[in-house]
Amino acid sequence: MRNGGQTTVIKRLLERRIHETVTDQDTTATVAVMLRVLPPPRALLAVSTDSRSTFEQGICDDMLEIATVAEDHEALEALERDFRAIVVTDSLELIRKIRARKLPRHPHIVYITALDEPAGREAGLMAGADDCLERRAGKRELNARIGTARRIAELEQVLRIALVENRKLSTTDDLTRVASRRFFSKHFPREVVRAARYGKPLSLILCDIDYFKNVNDTLGHIGGDEVLKQFAGRLQESLRRGVDWVARIGGEEFAIVLPETAYEQALGVTRRLRARIADREFEAQGCNLNVTASFGLCSVQRALISERKTADRMLRVADAALYRSKNAGRNRVTATLLPERASKASPAQLSQAPR
Ligand code: GH3
Ligand code: MG
Ligand code: MG
Repeated sequence: MRNGGQTTVIKRLLERRIHETVTDQDTTATVAVMLRVLPPPRALLAVSTDSRSTFEQGICDDMLEIATVAEDHEALEALERDFRAIVVTDSLELIRKIRARKLPRHPHIVYITALDEPAGREAGLMAGADDCLERRAGKRELNARIGTARRIAELEQVLRIALVENRKLSTTDDLTRVASRRFFSKHFPREVVRAARYGKPLSLILCDIDYFKNVNDTLGHIGGDEVLKQFAGRLQESLRRGVDWVARIGGEEFAIVLPETAYEQALGVTRRLRARIADREFEAQGCNLNVTASFGLCSVQRALISERKTADRMLRVADAALYRSKNAGRNRVTATLLPERASKASPAQLSQAPR
């Protein structure tokens, strides 16, 4: 028994290690591809006239995409207009000014010293340079240092791309491209706080596709996925762009957030959404089919900042309204207006027949 148990643990550890190695290799391969396809980093050469051409000619063509400027102020303007990942300069003043600016990103700065002495290098590093290079350095050393600068600039770029991608992945639902459940959980409470701060109304709609199991049974899972995509698209089409937002919070369940939208107006939107789904057939896997959904609306005329649980409460109330729509025969809207204060008074509720 004991031996068997140990074997299992070791086996599991080994399996995990194999898995981790694969993940690591995957990452390495992805980074390698990204590095290969990225264009060379954009650099700014700001050195005094007498040695400018030495550097322009010394840096290999394919290492960097270089722009040259004569004056410090031109360099600063160029950087603000159009970020450059690498700056090569012999001006300590320019380095200080760049570091003092609140640029959204920090360039990698190579300082060119007049003499290869500790004092010169120290002055450059103290001013904010990342690396120092002597003016009379040979071409090989120049390109070795530029190579290091390039590697750092590229890795930073890869990291930025990966972060953006990662954020997109976790905030967007892969299938329907609307917001994810995770995004909803984080941002809906923020909408409540915002509504409370400005004393604005807020509405939340929950909807669930009716008999979606039948859609999967008829069209297969791929067909069901197509319907889900079209369904999310129809919801989005009829909302205010950049203000209202949709999230997929379950398999075939969606939440729609309508900021600054009071009960009456939100009820109109919900009715329109219901009709938009039910009134036109969906097309998937070469078939046309009717799809309907049930809706539950919860509105607050004015959210209360003191009521920390408003987001949860709105969600619960909208869910109960949706449940009523299902029970009342589906393909309908049930709307609820929450009272201003968190009182025991039961909310006003309205159940809507489809047409
Ligand atoms: P009701 O009217 O009561 O909502 O009935 P329903 O069939 O829609 O509800 P039920 O909860 O019984 O079934 C939901 C189905 O949705 C079951 C599940 O397989 C399917 N589903 C969930 N997520 C996905 C998905 O991402 N793609 C597909 N194709 N189907 C999904
Ligand atoms: Mg359903
Ligand atoms: Mg469901």
